[in-house]
Amino acid sequence: MRLLESDGTLLLQEDTPGDAPSTRPEIDRSDLRDLLLDSLPEDTVRWGHAFESAANGRLHFTNGSSTTYDLLVGADGAQSRVRPLLTDARPTHIGQNVVELTIPDIDRTHPDLAAMLGRGNYWVLGNGISLAAQRNGDGRVRVGISFYSTPEDWFATAAIPFDNPPAARSRLIDLLPGWNPRITALIEACEDAITPRSITTLPIGLTWPSTPDITLLGDAAHLMPPVGEGANMALLDGAQLALTLAAHPNDFPAAVREYEHEMFDRTSTAARMSAEVQELLMAPDVAQKMFAFFQPG
Ligand SMILES: Cc1cc2nc3c(=O)[nH]c(=O)nc-3n(C[C@H](O)[C@H](O)[C@H](O)COP(=O)(O)OP(=O)(O)OC[C@H]3O[C@@H](n4cnc5c(N)ncnc54)[C@H](O)[C@@H]3O)c2cc1C
Repeated sequence: MRLLESDGTLLLQEDTPGDAPSTRPEIDRSDLRDLLLDSLPEDTVRWGHAFESAANGRLHFTNGSSTTYDLLVGADGAQSRVRPLLTDARPTHIGQNVVELTIPDIDRTHPDLAAMLGRGNYWVLGNGISLAAQRNGDGRVRVGISFYSTPEDWFATAAIPFDNPPAARSRLIDLLPGWNPRITALIEACEDAITPRSITTLPIGLTWPSTPDITLLGDAAHLMPPVGEGANMALLDGAQLALTLAAHPNDFPAAVREYEHEMFDRTSTAARMSAEVQELLMAPDVAQKMFAFFQPG
């Protein structure tokens, strides 16, 4: 990991030797998804069936088909359509807007930038803006630029021409005045796919009265600031729910209650911690605060 200030000052560099024990293992999402999908019997996943509604034990899909269910598990992310069956809570914007870009095959296309980034995370903290660059297993680098204290409709006013990628990259660099050109070179090196993401969260500690045949996991249940826990919690939710269902194969309502009890407790702690880190990221002296955060002890 490398932590820098926007003028290029290196605050922190942690180099993990290649043969170090893997105490915080990482895996690309696409590899993990393939690994999980390949472990399932064929046809378990019905592609092309987007959930539309559920009533009286019947699921309806947007392609017009329908089927019955024993237990409906909403794992459908931040904009979950299953969530309203359990709670009125809705995600609200947290004053952060993110632009995501990608540098393809960086070792071959930009060896100088590859050396600058190192093997893992490269994190630059400026005033109200951060840039995070992360290597993926296939040689791509994902670059995320976060604009803090920005309103929900910020993309409508920020004049980033997403339909003209070279001009959008150039506008993004203009939005980073005073940043070291070696850092903004990362934006110049990106390919044309540019994704805007408006960041929302659910209330910390959200719960709902247990319903025998419906539950939620992942972002559908506990959408939190994107500071490193959401995917971990979603995976743990899935594992915990599977374990409780296996322990109560003839009593799904009991399994759901037991799962939700553990999940509410665990994820509200993670959401509280994530909100604290998010507050640090939005602080005026963010770089120094983050440097202190990463100091051992
Ligand atoms: C910019 C950013 C950076 C992040 N960084 C990190 C990080 O470093 N570490 C971390 O742990 N987390 C991070 N997160 C959070 C993480 O991405 C999420 O917490 C995680 O993806 C949640 O997984 P999920 O399976 O619940 O939801 P998702 O990954 O959103 O998956 C939901 C799935 O449901 C599908 N779906 C949606 N609607 C329907 C429907 N109606 N019918 C059928 N399917 C549907 C979608 O297509 C999607 O495949 C970050 C998030 C953002 C936005």
